[in-house]
Amino acid sequence: MRVRFWGTRGSIPVSLTWRDLRDRLVRAMVLAAPHNLDTAGKAQAFVAKHFEFSLSHTFGGHSSCVELESAASADAGQYFVCDMGSGARAFGEHVLARQAGRPATVNIFMSHLHWDHIMGFPFFRPAYRPEYRLRIHGCHEQLEHAFRLQQDPPCFPVPFSTLAASIEFVRLTPGETYRIDGLSVTPMLQLHSGDSYGYRFEADERKVVYTTDSEHKLEEAGEPEKYAFFFRDADLVIFDAMYSLADAISVKADWGHSSNVIGVELCQMAGAKRLALYHHEPANDDQAIARILEETRRLEELTREGDRLEIVAAYDGLEIEL
Ligand SMILES: [Zn+2]
Ligand SMILES: [Zn+2]
Repeated sequence: MRVRFWGTRGSIPVSLTWRDLRDRLVRAMVLAAPHNLDTAGKAQAFVAKHFEFSLSHTFGGHSSCVELESAASADAGQYFVCDMGSGARAFGEHVLARQAGRPATVNIFMSHLHWDHIMGFPFFRPAYRPEYRLRIHGCHEQLEHAFRLQQDPPCFPVPFSTLAASIEFVRLTPGETYRIDGLSVTPMLQLHSGDSYGYRFEADERKVVYTTDSEHKLEEAGEPEKYAFFFRDADLVIFDAMYSLADAISVKADWGHSSNVIGVELCQMAGAKRLALYHHEPANDDQAIARILEETRRLEELTREGDRLEIVAAYDGLEIEL
């Protein structure tokens, strides 16, 4: 299974400012000055070898959107994606390019209906094409209403009813396991304002858990065990690590999000192999997220009892092959 991150920022999309860009250029020029980088090839090699991640990359970017690709899916014209945040625009372009006019089915799994998770849908171009079948899965009663509402006047000029794709809404029941185009999926209710749902996916003998916009009260009886069971033996857990632990349990308690520290604890309990920090706080710049990643890796080392838990911070454009 392959996982592609199209949108990794929490709550609202962010982009680099001109100041961020200028500061990077300055840092890069100072680093490069002693070296004779007079060709693009030399410069590229230098960047790859000597620039830290937060100088050569950006965590981005778009709000929540993560694609899962099983061995059989894309060639069969089947796509799987979690959430339709602003990253869905780029995901849609990817699907159109890959299909080149051939019909396809896109299975969409919605964690919940907050705006940062649906805002990309009006810009998801397959929705405007008759050769596409979109199946929008979710557990909320208002699933269809939310998608229609954001395209109603005065919010958007193109009403949902005029979309050319064949679109169906599929209500799922938490705790039930479904088989959808060769992928097994189990939703789970999570603590968040208005409820959110995590998904456990299984295909190609790999297990991926998508769990965002989810607050954890680990002091409550049964809570850690419930999540450890849902995450058990996962090859990858995509985890809402929006806040620091201090914020998550004090000023931002009950804001509906979790932390990197809780992510490590639950993944270790579950015997998960990889943890992707996700739904990054919009106020954190690339250096702050890189720092959080380093601290999370140190924490994992200090608390490790069994096998190593590999930790990454998700960024727009990251692909993980499982
Ligand atoms: Zn969110
Ligand atoms: Zn939310």
